[in-house]
Amino acid sequence: MTGLVVVSHSRALADAAVALASEMLHGSTTRIAVAAGLDAETFGTDATAIVDAIEKADDGQGVVVLMDLGSAVLSAELALELIDPEVRERTMLSAAPLVEGLMAAAVTAASGASPSDVAAEAGQALTPKRSALGVEDLPASGEDMSPGGESAVVEVENPHGLHARPAARLVTEAGQFDAEVTLRNLDTGAGPASARSLSQVAGLAVRCGQHLEIGASGPDAQAAVEHLTALARNRFGEEEAPASSAGRAVPYAGRASTPAGRAAPTAGRACRDHPALPASPGIAIGPVFTPAVVDVEPPDEQFDSADAQSARLRDALDAVRADIESLRATTAQHSPADAAIFDAHLVMLDDPDLVAAALERIESGVPASRAWAEAVAAVENEWRAVDDPYLRERAVDVRAVGQQVLRKLAGIPDATIDGTGVLVVDDLLPAQAAVLDAEKVAGVILAGGSPTSHAAILARARGIPAVVAAGPDVLATEPGVTVALDGSTGEIIVDPDSQTLERLRGEASRAAERGELARASAHESASTADGTRILVAANLGSVEDARAAAESGADGSGLVRTEFLYLDRAQPPSVDEQIDTYLAMADALGGQRITLRTLDVGGDKPLRFAPQPAEENPFLGLRGLRLALAEKTLFDDQLRAIVTVAHQTPISVMFPMVTTVDELLTAREHLDAAITSVGRGEPAGLEVGIMIEVPAAALKTAAFAPHVNFFSIGTNDLTQYTLAAERGNTSVAALADPLDPAVVTLINRVCRGAGPDRLVAVCGELAADETATDLLVALGVRELSVAPRAVPPIKQAVRGIDVTTNPRLVERCLEADTAASVRAALT
Ligand code: PEP
Ligand code: MG
Repeated sequence: MTGLVVVSHSRALADAAVALASEMLHGSTTRIAVAAGLDAETFGTDATAIVDAIEKADDGQGVVVLMDLGSAVLSAELALELIDPEVRERTMLSAAPLVEGLMAAAVTAASGASPSDVAAEAGQALTPKRSALGVEDLPASGEDMSPGGESAVVEVENPHGLHARPAARLVTEAGQFDAEVTLRNLDTGAGPASARSLSQVAGLAVRCGQHLEIGASGPDAQAAVEHLTALARNRFGEEEAPASSAGRAVPYAGRASTPAGRAAPTAGRACRDHPALPASPGIAIGPVFTPAVVDVEPPDEQFDSADAQSARLRDALDAVRADIESLRATTAQHSPADAAIFDAHLVMLDDPDLVAAALERIESGVPASRAWAEAVAAVENEWRAVDDPYLRERAVDVRAVGQQVLRKLAGIPDATIDGTGVLVVDDLLPAQAAVLDAEKVAGVILAGGSPTSHAAILARARGIPAVVAAGPDVLATEPGVTVALDGSTGEIIVDPDSQTLERLRGEASRAAERGELARASAHESASTADGTRILVAANLGSVEDARAAAESGADGSGLVRTEFLYLDRAQPPSVDEQIDTYLAMADALGGQRITLRTLDVGGDKPLRFAPQPAEENPFLGLRGLRLALAEKTLFDDQLRAIVTVAHQTPISVMFPMVTTVDELLTAREHLDAAITSVGRGEPAGLEVGIMIEVPAAALKTAAFAPHVNFFSIGTNDLTQYTLAAERGNTSVAALADPLDPAVVTLINRVCRGAGPDRLVAVCGELAADETATDLLVALGVRELSVAPRAVPPIKQAVRGIDVTTNPRLVERCLEADTAASVRAALT
């Protein structure tokens, strides 16, 4: 018989629910096991207790697990990962409400039904209550949410789910259509939520990998659904987490010094649960200053009239909007991508639900400040109740915006922070972090926060070293006491002894010197001590990137991700548009060589205008050159644009995701046809290369060599395919280390296979990791193509290479058993 497991935060609640269900069973023997509470009194859920309960409830036919809210779901999911695979196969997690679901499940299980029938019946458990109350039924999963409208389902790929910035982008873009757009989290059943309200969208708590149903009705319904689907596939315009946010945490060291750890280069390693986390690299030493940052309480105000109070609130909202827009502009000067934090604040400020809730309170006689404070507190609490820790942090943003408006209403100046030394504070509002004076604030220690908090992102954008989540004890540090912090490791030392100070000062001044030297000589070429010239080029995804690369002193571009021209549009770019864009990029880089990678899209990055059948495993499917060879018109048009541009400026053309020599030869035939079609002979400076991203290609480098001028190793994909660890999947992020000896061995194989006459470049993220620069150069890599901002430090790292200091470096790395040993050999 199908067994049942009840997972709840409360033992008492679970026991009572089981007692109630047993009433319905009239002596039947349905097994119902409970995994609830950490003990009889303490609320909480525990995955191992759920495993035990599943095993107890299972008699071989299978189990349905019913959960209450929040971490109960996470713990149940974790339990499934821990349990015996055979039992997992026959265990189902039910999204049904706990009490109603359990009643329905218990009765159905008693009838001998299978787990899937029991789960289906539990899933319908709300129907009687809904119909009794006259509530319309929610559409079932996959059903059209908007009768007469359009709908689509997308998987959210953003590593932190639909958090504030992507949610804000979604709300902004949905608002541009004449359509009523609703959203639902299909994995949790949350929703429908209006896509016009950021707080409703946040309430869906959509995590990475979950499925978002987008429904729309109204004149623009179809366009809205198409547009938002494409936006979701483009991760709502969000870039990968910055590498600098990654790092190995070293706990708060107090007075006892902890030796500096080495920052792990892999972004997104789970580090949120550790105390004292590195948040913005760099060493800071200085006297502590701890400004009192107090929250403003709504003042006691007379209520004159609803009109007057509503007008006051609207004026305050307008004034704060202007302030946020100006903060946005200031931040954009340091870091355009991070300025998006303030876009999210603008959307929060204009959230119609929030404003309507405040206005409603005013209508009922509550003065503007109190009405606003209450409405903000309600939304803040909704965010705090969200299960995902990253999303939960967005409550801080709501509070920040709420406080800004309250200050305006109360006529209190903005809470800017002024002081000199190391700022130690509980947390920082983004508006405060954005205007910290980097000349005066040597570093920041936050008792709270996280490396992904906006305060941390903004500290990074300002180049101010920061350590976060140091715990409340750090707030007790006396103002004026010297404190040292290392924003790359999370190390904090209060009142360091002279030896430690000397060490840290040495490290800080060496780092500062390196930074200054790097910037000063960014526009000079980079050679190793023995005179080997290494090109440090830039990876580009827009003309703006090309301008940034020129400012950073890039030696041209080693990778133009041309797909930026193709994604998110209903029609492919015309040949002329491509020509204009490629020429603009080359122009921005002063006519230096740019490497145009042909379209690298596929199942994971689908094209709206060339839909492909769904694939079970898109990373192993029709992507890169494979798709180009299937969509010949697209490929031929792009090659014609590239050949035309190559008649005017030095161009390298590069094919992505090549696996076999035949593919390369076919691609070259298309290139020859494009040269013939353009009709001016072969462009003089045109070079042809392939990316090495597939292990098979790495192993066959020598076979490709006669047909190309260069190779460029895409370590992002090469690592994912070598280690069978999907890039972007945080649960296998620790495995996907590009310094794993297997990847290093393949890079070596490429360098050997290429021979002396073919340039080997690296354009994956490993190229921007200073730890790896000497190894890559020692292996024979002669071009490193990196994000524009990484050009100066990587050039400097190249200049620091002296092959005589570590002659056995390559051997030691190739002999290493683990990525950690490779790193050890590199330090
Ligand atoms: C790579 O795979 O390393 C690479 C540079 O290509 P992309 O990141 O665009 O897939
Ligand atoms: Mg790639």
